[in-house]
Amino acid sequence: MRLLLGKCVDQSRLTFDENDFMIRRTFAPETRGMKLDILAIAAHPDDVEISAGGTIIRAVNEGKKVGIVDLTKGEMGSRGNGELRLQEAEHASKILGIEVRENLHLADCFFTHNEESLRAIIAAVRKYQPDIVLTNAPSDRHPDHGRASKLIRDACFYSGLRRIETNQEQWRPKAVYMFNQDYYNAPDFVVDVTDVWEQKIQALKAYKSQFFNPTSPEPATPISGSEFFDFLKSRCMDFGRPAGFLMAEGFLVDRTPGVRSLFDLI
Ligand SMILES: [Zn+2]
Repeated sequence: MRLLLGKCVDQSRLTFDENDFMIRRTFAPETRGMKLDILAIAAHPDDVEISAGGTIIRAVNEGKKVGIVDLTKGEMGSRGNGELRLQEAEHASKILGIEVRENLHLADCFFTHNEESLRAIIAAVRKYQPDIVLTNAPSDRHPDHGRASKLIRDACFYSGLRRIETNQEQWRPKAVYMFNQDYYNAPDFVVDVTDVWEQKIQALKAYKSQFFNPTSPEPATPISGSEFFDFLKSRCMDFGRPAGFLMAEGFLVDRTPGVRSLFDLI
């Protein structure tokens, strides 16, 4: 599997790993990228893997094109650092099987709902023209998650307004779904991730600085204990239970989803 992150314009912005795997470290200046079926946009590297990693792996297995845009490097996190988290995100991306991953380099903890942030996200949405956007929970333990969720949902709407000029075609995703992360938010629908659970956990473990490592000298966090994976499994079992799945990821919606046939729901 090869992850080719956009057309090469500025060689100084690119690095290559041992497999000649081209990695773009900054938001690509191109205004048009590969059209994606799903774009997950979230505050920190690892948010998507924790909350929607299984859903993404399922979509990739179905032949869908999926990408991730992280707003920040998570540089204010208690463990690891921004550069390390970029490397870990690259590793996780390979395990997920996604097409592209970019980082907008907004300021962890201090990004705000302003024109600059909105325009950066609008440019990413227009660049990849996703049909579906996945994003952070509307309210969560980390304040960045709720703030990012509002920012990203607003940007998805504004991206469809032609008078907001970015030298790109206007584009509004057909659906925006918010995932569950730390706090429990009763889901509006769930996605069965039973068959891809182990692959999701492998993608999470790519973030070695964030999750359980008994030799790490860094301070403990709510996700660094060995029990975190037990918590995640029990959360996903709880989500799956009413729908008849062993494990599922849960999502929330702003706009009521509709089906043309009742049989699409069974
Ligand atoms: Zn986060």
